[in-house]
Amino acid sequence: MMRRCAAAGITILVLGGPLPATAEQLGQIGGITGAVKKANDLRDLQVTDAEEQQLGAAVSEKIRTRYGVVQDAAVHRYIALVGTALAQASTRPALPWNFVVLDTDGVNAFAAPGGYVHITRGALALLETEAELAGVLGHEIIHVTEKHTIKSIQKSKAVQMGASETLSGSSALLERAVTATYDSIVEKGFGREEENESDEKGIALANKIGYAPDGLSAFLTRLKERNKDSTEKRGLFASHPEMDSRLANIKKEIAAKKMASTAMLGDRYKRFISYTPRPMTEIATVTPGSAGLTGDTAKAEPKKEEPKKKSGGFGLSRMLPTGGGGEKQQAQVTGSGSARGVDPEKDSRGGTNPAPVPVKLAAADIEAFKKEGGLK
Ligand SMILES: [Zn+2]
Repeated sequence: MMRRCAAAGITILVLGGPLPATAEQLGQIGGITGAVKKANDLRDLQVTDAEEQQLGAAVSEKIRTRYGVVQDAAVHRYIALVGTALAQASTRPALPWNFVVLDTDGVNAFAAPGGYVHITRGALALLETEAELAGVLGHEIIHVTEKHTIKSIQKSKAVQMGASETLSGSSALLERAVTATYDSIVEKGFGREEENESDEKGIALANKIGYAPDGLSAFLTRLKERNKDSTEKRGLFASHPEMDSRLANIKKEIAAKKMASTAMLGDRYKRFISYTPRPMTEIATVTPGSAGLTGDTAKAEPKKEEPKKKSGGFGLSRMLPTGGGGEKQQAQVTGSGSARGVDPEKDSRGGTNPAPVPVKLAAADIEAFKKEGGLK
């Protein structure tokens, strides 16, 4: 925790201990009693658009370092074309949108603030059509446009700030915000409300530019089957009421809003993406929560505590039972030394190259891409 004492111009870091309760106590630290009139009240994190970019870039780097990046320009260009076509139809078309393909077999997608959308090679392997890809990217884009992560970390005590402090003006605060954001996106996931909003607005976005709106549910259904088939123990997930209610909600939404676009584009998808999905039982893992590691289990740091789980298997990254018996079975398969709480989709080993693969798209490229696919 940190408090900034404006009167003394001194920032006092209190590590691992309770926050001093009064200004008087605060003043006693370092023997500066008297110089400190009163401590400023802590307030929730304030984030400008520029700071959102700064935060997103740093978090994206952390995610890229953790999972590695597929060094394939053609794959990145294709994902960026679909993603940008969607993003341009969103409520924040002017963000500098980035679409990153992560080099891991785990099936996942992560949206960082400011327009940084990540999807894993494993997720691309499981998808079968461009409409399904649009469903997943649309869902992630809504997490960004609705600022779900920003709102989530603003509730965090760890990133509260002093009245005169700014995110861009304090490297210590930025570092805490990056850590909190990464944990929120990769380790904890979102709650039911945010996931439902992303589902509903994400499929509407895909439908708006011409994609069949049921792409997301086709993918989620396949993910559910993947889980069911991998181990008996994971059968717990197969009847997971939250997944079923999520699918039912999507179906209801499509009917209620009369979403009727039809483009599936399975052939075009297969022209660009030819990965083979790896069963969950064959996914090599690293120690849960070992952020920043690129897949070397030997270097994985011991985890101090289990990340707090949200509504158990609801987000794209949280659609597996995280506390159930399936973990033990995974541990045997992967041989991971510390497999407690392992979620193969999230804790999958990643590649070693975090370098982004830049994609340059002209407006004409996106128009031609949409035209070729019969999109709007
Ligand atoms: Zn989500």
